[in-house]
Amino acid sequence: MSYGIRKDFYNSKAWKTVRKNVWLKQNLLCSRCHKPVYVDGISEWLPKEKRRIGIVHHKIYLDNTNVYDMNIALNENNLEGVCKECHEQEHHQDVAVRKDFMFDDNGNLIKKE
Ligand SMILES: [Zn+2]
Ligand SMILES: [Zn+2]
Repeated sequence: MSYGIRKDFYNSKAWKTVRKNVWLKQNLLCSRCHKPVYVDGISEWLPKEKRRIGIVHHKIYLDNTNVYDMNIALNENNLEGVCKECHEQEHHQDVAVRKDFMFDDNGNLIKKE
């Protein structure tokens, strides 16, 4: 159920337009590692081996309470184009900070001392 609301949002024409603007402004480069990304409908020309999936990240995370708030959901100042790898890092960090956990050397999530 909760997933459905955001799925509708991500399928909306408004979101697709904003997402495209963000990527064009960044020249289809990840804002963190600066590697070129592949975005559906924009970068068909990128050779397969160079493709990193591009994701537009919400700096204020999108959830079911703010998905209809245009100042958050569709505000370009709240958006950042990143590759899949950098995006995963961002969200892992968030888990670590918020829940007082950290990753050990083997990548296992452990409680901070
Ligand atoms: Zn990146
Ligand atoms: Zn994100």
